[in-house]
Amino acid sequence: NKRSRVVHNFMRERLSRNILKMLAQLGETAAELDCRAYVVGGFVRDLFLFRKNEDIDVVIEGDGIAFAKTFANAHGARTHTHEKFGTAVITFPDDFKIDVASARMEYYQFPASLPVVEMSSIKMDMFRRDFTINTLAIELNPDKFGRLLDFFSAQKDIKDKVLRVLHNLSFVEDPTRVFRALRFEQRFGFTIGKLTSSLIDNAVKMDFFKRVAGKRIYTELKLILKEEHPAPILLRLLDYDLLRIIHPLIKIENDLQRLLETAQKVTDWHDLLFIDESYERWAVYFMTLLCHCDLDATLEICNHLTIAPRYRKMFGETRIMMAEHLTRLERRKRMDNAQVYNLLKGLRTELILYMMICTTSDTAIKRISKYHTQLRHAAITLSGKDLLDMGLPPGPLFSRTLQAVLEAKLNGRVRNREEEIAFARQTIKKQGKKSR
Ligand code: ATP
Repeated sequence: NKRSRVVHNFMRERLSRNILKMLAQLGETAAELDCRAYVVGGFVRDLFLFRKNEDIDVVIEGDGIAFAKTFANAHGARTHTHEKFGTAVITFPDDFKIDVASARMEYYQFPASLPVVEMSSIKMDMFRRDFTINTLAIELNPDKFGRLLDFFSAQKDIKDKVLRVLHNLSFVEDPTRVFRALRFEQRFGFTIGKLTSSLIDNAVKMDFFKRVAGKRIYTELKLILKEEHPAPILLRLLDYDLLRIIHPLIKIENDLQRLLETAQKVTDWHDLLFIDESYERWAVYFMTLLCHCDLDATLEICNHLTIAPRYRKMFGETRIMMAEHLTRLERRKRMDNAQVYNLLKGLRTELILYMMICTTSDTAIKRISKYHTQLRHAAITLSGKDLLDMGLPPGPLFSRTLQAVLEAKLNGRVRNREEEIAFARQTIKKQGKKSR
């Protein structure tokens, strides 16, 4: 069969020993159960693209759930199953996961207008996938370990760097594939095939997205926002005027191109300087998209996309309140460090970066970056206990004094512990006079 070739040696060169061993063991369990196992999809695609990918997706010709349970039992792992879909996740004690699906005719539903053709279960499983490049499968059973199945010329498309859907109704069947197409196009530096591109134009023109649940759009959008370089993908979505389906205010005319390019620069700046600090970069990009949306529009979007409450507050109320703070940082001629600190303290990194993206004022950018690189770490040695030792009774003056010392430290008026103590004494004296 000219469509199949053995890629066992190639796998040995490219894959880690552990992964290779795991694949062999999966094949052995399949043989014991008298079914056939294949590793499929992104894992195989990335093998041929020379990209590291350890997300193993297995398709079983037969009962995938029984397979997953047997394999997990034999290897000290747990399973989580979805009987309705014939799928399971195998989880090892170190949290390594394998996805298992069943290739069985009863799981497939195709648009009625597609011709019914005879196919093996594995071919059928590959046929319902999004793009040809994701349709490669490698057999794992010991008798045919390493045999590559390429039913839809995926190897050629990978070689030619082109993305193609498998049939003309692909975007009718699932319009979210348009988002996936642009994500893969940019991630791999591929081009979208001519026919596929016109099918996308058609999906946009006919507004296929109207009937897609917001939750599914959010899932695909988040996958885009979590890519290493989301900006070029979002710009492609803008090219197709596709972000308008999230909200009409998210459109290219709104200076979004410049903002997204700035978002890339600002997050790169941050990631280089604060390599160990984690934050949700995707949320920074998402807020950048929302920058022309007021509170009502933002809440509408959050409802439609079913965004979790903890993000709603950041994307809505807090983000919009920040816009007011930003005006002050842009316009006030004189602001000392303590004033900048008091305006920004406690803000999440996501919002700090968002503010840097939104402003074109050099003054504001300098103030915010100074806060993030230096001021936010400011601390004093003086504590409440020191104030008690000075004879100050606990009360409102306590926190006011500590705050005054911190501000003095931020503004460079005290540098060490002695100066902090002296400054605290002075403050207490002054406050004492005032209250008399
Ligand atoms: P990534 O590297 O982003 O994880 P992936 O190809 O592994 O890419 P997943 O989103 O994990 O992508 O999907 C796993 C497989 O399921 C893909 O290879 C793809 O063929 C298939 N798939 C995912 N979403 C769809 C969809 N909407 N329509 C058809 N097939 C899909």
